[in-house]
Amino acid sequence: MSFRKKFTPRKKFCRFCADKELPLDYKRIDILRDFVTERGKIIARRITGTCAKHQRSLTTEIKRSRQMALLFYTTVHSTDVKKKTV
Ligand SMILES: [Zn+2]
Repeated sequence: MSFRKKFTPRKKFCRFCADKELPLDYKRIDILRDFVTERGKIIARRITGTCAKHQRSLTTEIKRSRQMALLFYTTVHSTDVKKKTV
């Protein structure tokens, strides 16, 4: 077996292309969280495998959700974030 990486191991493909049902929306922080680090940084496309088109809109949605205070800016809130998603 291959060694475990720091992140959850996933294959490199665009999740939004692979799953058309997957909403790319600022309200879905449960999804967006997979694309930011624990420090709130957006993970580079070459790591997540997201295609250029979706990475672009993903970035917008992440920034939007930060403004809505759904996603944390810093690591301070990262460990104990209350889930507000329905
Ligand atoms: Zn895509």
